[in-house]
Order: sequence, then structure tokens, then C-alpha cells
Amino acid sequence: MFATMMHGAGEVRYEEVADPKILAPTDAIIQLAVSSICGSDLWPYRGYGEFDGPKAMGHEYCGVVVEIGSDVKTVKKGQFVVGSFCLSDNTCPHCQYGFQSSCQQREFMTGAQAPYARIPLADGTLVGLDHLPDPSLYPDLQAVSDVLGTGWYAADAARVTPGSTAVVIGDGAVGLMAVIAAKHYGAERIIAMSRHPSRQALAKEFGATDIVAERGEEGIARVMELTRGIGA
Ligand SMILES: [Zn+2]
Repeated sequence: MFATMMHGAGEVRYEEVADPKILAPTDAIIQLAVSSICGSDLWPYRGYGEFDGPKAMGHEYCGVVVEIGSDVKTVKKGQFVVGSFCLSDNTCPHCQYGFQSSCQQREFMTGAQAPYARIPLADGTLVGLDHLPDPSLYPDLQAVSDVLGTGWYAADAARVTPGSTAVVIGDGAVGLMAVIAAKHYGAERIIAMSRHPSRQALAKEFGATDIVAERGEEGIARVMELTRGIGA
């Protein structure tokens, strides 16, 4: 994750920028405090997939609301918000059962590597803070918008429970956040599959109890050995 401070150490400024002609009733416009480059931004950057022209990138973001559409109720102008990369209304049946990533109106955020961004479905997508955070916390808050949410969802979907054993495959930002989430859910043993010493150290700091550097069949064999044939 590479967080970019758009405003140095200064405060995010409140500015009127929105053109009402392009603002849908459920939209908000935010001024970005920080944005970052996700691993998944690197696929199109390296030419993977089909493109018909330049594309506005960026889906990890937080900042201050500068304009809201007429239907937006949960965030207000001047409020600091953290957004999800997955845009959702938080009201449809899927959202009501906790699967916002399968929202009937789901869209994926893009265009947040910019001074300002339009956020569709603002009520469901943005989470507002009740205060303006210290700028030193911007990168931490920004990490919640994708990598922590994704790693957390993995631990939640895997039903990690107190006393259980969790195996986290991969030591990128999401994998490391999954270690944090597994620890939060009370996993007694957290096996991080990682080959990079610096990330192994972070995984241990975040709660991993064991590191497995092997991959594939060898990695599976090592996990089974560590768990006396039970696995995760
Ligand atoms: Zn929904």
C-alpha cells in the first residue's frame, strides 16, 4: 500500500466544487485526504484485460464530504468519511443480510486517485466519523477502505471462532489484515503462509503463531503436520 498525502501535513480544506448537473440524488462528492494504489490496480496498469482508453483509477480512499445529493441522509458536508471499494445501498435484501458486496445495486469504485471523487450510493458506501481526525491518522483510516475490510471479510466468511486454527494464504496487505481479523475473532493458532522475512515479521506482530514458507503440496503437508493432520 502506498498512501499519498494530497495536502502534506495540513488540514483538508472545505471547498465548494460540485456541479449539481452531474450529482445524482444518492451521490456524495468528497475531497480526498489520501488515496492509494491497490495491488489490483497493477493488473490493468500492466496491460491485463481489455481497455478502450485511459481509465480513472483508485478505489481505496477517505476524505471530507464537500457535497451531497438530495437523498443522502447518513453523511453531511464537512464530515470525514471512509469509503468502501464496493459501492452498495445497504438497504437491499443482500445488504440486509450482511452481504453488501453482493448488493443488488453494486458498483465498484474507481477514480479515487484524484483530488475529488464522486461516490455513488453514498448512504450505504460511506462511513462517517464524528470528528475530523488528525492528519497523521489518514493512512490508517484509508487502509480500512479496502485491505482491512477484505481481510476481515475473509476471517468472517471462514467463520473463525475462539480457539480455532486459521491459515492465511498470502502475506500481502489483505493477508496481513486477515491475520489481524483472525486474532480479533479469537483464533488460538494463526498460520501465515509467507515467504518474505519483512512480512513474516509483520504477520507475527499482528498475531500469527506460525509461519509456513512452503507453497503448493509442500505447504499443505506442512500445515497438516503443524495441526496433527487436522488442518484449519
Ligand atoms: Zn444493497
